Amino acid sequence: WKNDRAAYLDELIWLEGRGDAVDSVCVQCRELPALIRCDDCFGQAMYCERCVVGQHVKTPLHQVKKWNGLYFECVTLKVLGLWIQLGHPPGQRCVNPRHAFNDDFVVMDSLGIHEVSLDFCSCETAKDHVMQLLRMCWFPATPTDPRSAATFRVLEAYQLLSFESKASALEFYQSLVRLTNNTGLPPPVRSVICLSNSNLFT
Ligand SMILES: [Zn+2]
Ligand SMILES: [Zn+2]
Ligand SMILES: [Zn+2]
Repeated sequence: WKNDRAAYLDELIWLEGRGDAVDSVCVQCRELPALIRCDDCFGQAMYCERCVVGQHVKTPLHQVKKWNGLYFECVTLKVLGLWIQLGHPPGQRCVNPRHAFNDDFVVMDSLGIHEVSLDFCSCETAKDHVMQLLRMCWFPATPTDPRSAATFRVLEAYQLLSFESKASALEFYQSLVRLTNNTGLPPPVRSVICLSNSNLFT
C-alpha cells in the first residue's frame, strides 16, 4: 500500500471536508441545508438538523458534527433538539413526561460521554427512575434521583479491558474523555461517578 500512500492521504483529507455534499441540501428531505454528519452511522451522507434528530431516536448516543462553513465542529444531539423518553418504546410520546433535573443528564457509553435531554415517564403505571434507566440498559450512577448513568455496554467493555490489560478505571475513563473531545476541554463532571460505581455491575 506504500505506493498508494498519496491516494490514501487524499481520501483522508476528502473525509475532513463536505465531500460530495458541497452546497447541497439534505439527502433525506431535499429541503433544508445539509449541515450534519454522524460519525457513528454508516456512510458519509449529510443531512439537515431536523432529519438527523429523527434518525437518532433509536440511537441517541451517536456523535454528530456540524459544518460551520470552514470545518466540522462537535455538536450534541441534545443541542440539535433530540429528547430521550424513558418508559415507552423509542419514538412513542409520553402523556406525562418529567424532565430530568435541570435538563442535565449525562450518559457514559463505549464511544464517549454524552449530555442528553431526558424525560422520565410519570404515567400511572410508570416504574421508578432507576428501573426506567435499567430497562434501557443504562446503569444509574446513584440509586436515588440519578442524574447520570453508564450503559451496560461501556461497563462490560471496561470489565473485559481490565481483565486483559489491567487498565485502571481512571485510564479507561480518560480514554473515553478523549474519544468525546480530544481538545483537552473538561468533560461533564458527573461522568466519573458512573465508572467508580461500576463494581456494582460486575
Ligand atoms: Zn432533512
Ligand atoms: Zn448516527
Ligand atoms: Zn409515560
